[in-house]
Amino acid sequence: VEDNSMIMMILSYAVMIGGMYLLMTMVTRRMGGDGMMGGFGKSKAKVYMEKQTGVTFKDVAGQDEAKESLQEIIDFLHNPHKYTDIGAKLPKGALLVGSPGTGKTLLAKAVAGEADVPFFSISGSEFEEMFVGVGASRVRDLFKQAANVAPCIVFIDEIDAVGHSRDNRFGSADQTLNQLLGEMDGVDSSKGIVILAATNRPETLDKALLRAGRFDRRIIVDKPNLQGRLDTLKVHTRRIKLAEDVDLNKVAQATAGAVGADLANLVNEAALRAVRQGRQAVNQEDLMVSFEVVIAGTEKKNTILTEKEKKLVAYHEVGHALISALEKKTDPVSKITIVPHTSGALGYTMYLPEEEKFLSTKDELLADLKSTLGGRAAEQVVFGVQTTGASNDLQKATALARYMVSVYGMSEEMGLMATAVVQNQYLDNHAQMDCSQDTAAKVDLTVQKLLDECYTQAKQILTDNRALLDEISNYLLEKESITGEELMAFVNKANPTEEATEN
Ligand code: ADP
Ligand code: ZN
Repeated sequence: VEDNSMIMMILSYAVMIGGMYLLMTMVTRRMGGDGMMGGFGKSKAKVYMEKQTGVTFKDVAGQDEAKESLQEIIDFLHNPHKYTDIGAKLPKGALLVGSPGTGKTLLAKAVAGEADVPFFSISGSEFEEMFVGVGASRVRDLFKQAANVAPCIVFIDEIDAVGHSRDNRFGSADQTLNQLLGEMDGVDSSKGIVILAATNRPETLDKALLRAGRFDRRIIVDKPNLQGRLDTLKVHTRRIKLAEDVDLNKVAQATAGAVGADLANLVNEAALRAVRQGRQAVNQEDLMVSFEVVIAGTEKKNTILTEKEKKLVAYHEVGHALISALEKKTDPVSKITIVPHTSGALGYTMYLPEEEKFLSTKDELLADLKSTLGGRAAEQVVFGVQTTGASNDLQKATALARYMVSVYGMSEEMGLMATAVVQNQYLDNHAQMDCSQDTAAKVDLTVQKLLDECYTQAKQILTDNRALLDEISNYLLEKESITGEELMAFVNKANPTEEATEN
């Protein structure tokens, strides 16, 4: 039996290898002719080409610094001689770094549009799961086509999918990366091929990609601030009929954290809603309702909560909101609702930042922690129960507490010692522990203690203001959603002289 199974194994390997070989030659043959077709099995990385993108910098809102850095590339594509005559090395590649939806692709297209050159693009994520060799030949193809029509822009989206550091990767991606490196080195920059690549995880990229003569420039494409969001809304409403009551400024204020793609989506949803309701123009309500659809998830009326659950959710949300209102150091609440959303949230509390803020004090962060834990605190204080509804809050609070202890130097126990490194403060809030195991254990205890203290204080605040908590929660139960102004009316009536912060 043993021998037989050995033979079977060897046989099946032989069949597999033979099959692979056949497939490979078929794929390679297809590649020879027209690389743009693709579509065989999983080999889906396609090269897209646009003769004229029709996109210019006017279509990209905000991002002034990114535009300024890219201006030189455009100028170079217009007047290569200005650079070559003086003997200057021309920029070959630049890396656009930023969260998804911030407009990296749009910017790359705008560079092509401004320079009036063709635009080639390919996405790194499509190389995953491809047959060995296919990725590499697609890359070769891309550069061949680009060389034929230079000057042009070559755009590689999600480059981290091919370019991540070689330690933990399959051979096929390796070949693709090597091909890419080789092609970039082979590009004669005086011909005017500029390679732009996009990623939101620059720290994972293979160092070889970042070396001089490759992607040696880094252009940060940030999430938009208030002004940036307003500008983005203006760009996307250019061709939309707006009713008199529309206040884009208010929409921009309510959408802190949203990226360009969210805002483009929001405007389109609003226009669709206006059409559905048979109106000729988009009004403010369309925009605000769409904001909830796009950013908070659609209202999901068919999630039926029991009365008891509804009550729990209402108290939970008011717990968050009331603590922020009383502590006054956290952002004012703009809306509280217990209408479930498709995002899975059974209710939520929205905050409205009064102004863009770049610095937070320890007191403000502590207030944030208390209000984040305020949902669970309300469940405990009022009903003596703990629900699963607080899991997201707990993750957020823990992450914040960990940051305070290990990055911001805000605990007595750990003092000023930074025990974690932040890879890129612009992009993610992921800090990596960077200390001995003993210290890490101490950090964990400190984080736990900080959370416990804030939770105790949150429960105390709610116990001290129990009547107010009941009153607002009942009102919310009745109305299902209330505004920040309604909330503050209750709070101010109960605390006319700011007694809330007495302890
Ligand atoms: P990324 O490549 O960074 O993921 P995209 O460029 O694909 O983002 O953005 C998707 C869409 O979102 C764009 O086509 C555009 O409609 C909109 N958008 C994103 N950023 C901006 C911006 N800064 N200005 C105007 N529109 C934007
Ligand atoms: Zn909560």
